[in-house]
Amino acid sequence: MIFDTIVAKSTADGISAINIIRVSGDESFTKVNEIFKGPDLTKAKSHTVHYGHIHNQGEIIDEVMVSIFKTPKTFTTENIVEISCHGGNFIANEIIKILISNGVRLAQRGEFTKRAYLNGRIDLTEAESIMDMVNAKSHNQLKIANEQLRGDVKVLINTLQENILNIIANIEVNIDYPEYDDVEELTNTLVIPKITGLLDNINKIIKESETGQVIREGIKTVIIGKPNVGKSSLLNSLLKEDKAIVTDISGTTRDLIEAELNLNGVILKLVDTAGIRSTKDIIERIGINKSKKAISEADLILLVLNQSEKLTELDKELLELTKGKERILIGNKMDLGNKLNLEGESVINISAIKNQGLDQLANKVKQLFLNEKILNSDTTILSNARHIGKLREVKKALEDAIKAAKDNLPIDFIEIDLRKAWANLGEITGKATTDDLLNNLFSKFCLGK
Ligand code: GDP
Repeated sequence: MIFDTIVAKSTADGISAINIIRVSGDESFTKVNEIFKGPDLTKAKSHTVHYGHIHNQGEIIDEVMVSIFKTPKTFTTENIVEISCHGGNFIANEIIKILISNGVRLAQRGEFTKRAYLNGRIDLTEAESIMDMVNAKSHNQLKIANEQLRGDVKVLINTLQENILNIIANIEVNIDYPEYDDVEELTNTLVIPKITGLLDNINKIIKESETGQVIREGIKTVIIGKPNVGKSSLLNSLLKEDKAIVTDISGTTRDLIEAELNLNGVILKLVDTAGIRSTKDIIERIGINKSKKAISEADLILLVLNQSEKLTELDKELLELTKGKERILIGNKMDLGNKLNLEGESVINISAIKNQGLDQLANKVKQLFLNEKILNSDTTILSNARHIGKLREVKKALEDAIKAAKDNLPIDFIEIDLRKAWANLGEITGKATTDDLLNNLFSKFCLGK
């Protein structure tokens, strides 16, 4: 595909040592060459770096290094020039303005990656992984994004599509060439185990993706407990331990502030820490009804109790309120004694002010949410909610296909569900046109003899 030539600054705004301006498109060498004093870029070898100056009608704008990447072995597969100029927004903007006045277009957000996709160098899963890499805040997030960028998800999805296609092709042959001896006759009874095998595999992938999602999205967590039990002390010691705070994000409502914290590789998204920090107490501040809402929306509740006292009525109420939810009971102030008696419940004892027991807490979170066996195995883990959502649609379509087969519906009904499953998989990678399906299908069976 041929597109116009685009330009954008690849580095973030603000003061920095250098900025990188990226130009991609057919005319990128000639357009940059027009404003560059130095070696002739149009004659330069691919993957080389050149020293020179950017000028505008005789006036020197900046001393720069220019890298040349010739099509097709580039990020977008197009001709790419990267100009490394001095930092600060002004110089970079000046250079971009000159290029624009010479007919280069300012790129839209993500347009370089979009071109890499449209030009067939990467699929959608790889494009999405680039954003995940840029946004990664933990080692595990980076690991999953890297695997996705390497194409692991693409390969997994392509293989599943291939398996479905084999069944579809078999059905097609049966319908179109009933007399064709070489091909196994595919009855409803024969088709059921084939689709069930696929469905089992998809169910397994969906199950394993829970770990991926926890890593990518983090765990929405609330810390609750009666006043003075040590909630803010716990939060502070978790943050101080540099396990460590990542950001303070302003929430959507005025009261709600979220803090993200990296607890031994698992990101906890702490909701409503404002309640803990400012007025000290979420229950006191927003009342039991709103806490109920916070509790019902959380993936994890850290319920803080006082290890040095007996249970109070409010403790009991909170225990009742969080029953059946994913929760960790924390017995704080263990340095002051051991009076809490919660039969049959597992309690992690800590001392927030003495920084004791925090590792056990981190391990408990990992144990609840992170399947390390899956993480460290060669299994490809899906982490992106869009991919997992699509996979659930595939699962539904395959279940429908099995039901149709069991109900003894004509085999073309089953084929419709299978095609749907195939197309849903293709939406994950961005390759699912009917043309693709037909091309693939006919490349498998050369029946047109
Ligand atoms: P919150 O109202 O639940 O946020 O409780 P705070 O974190 O403000 O703590 C209430 C009081 O308990 C403060 O005086 C803390 O210093 C004290 N405290 C918190 N954690 C501990 C602990 O582990 N041991 C002891 N001895 N005191 C603690």
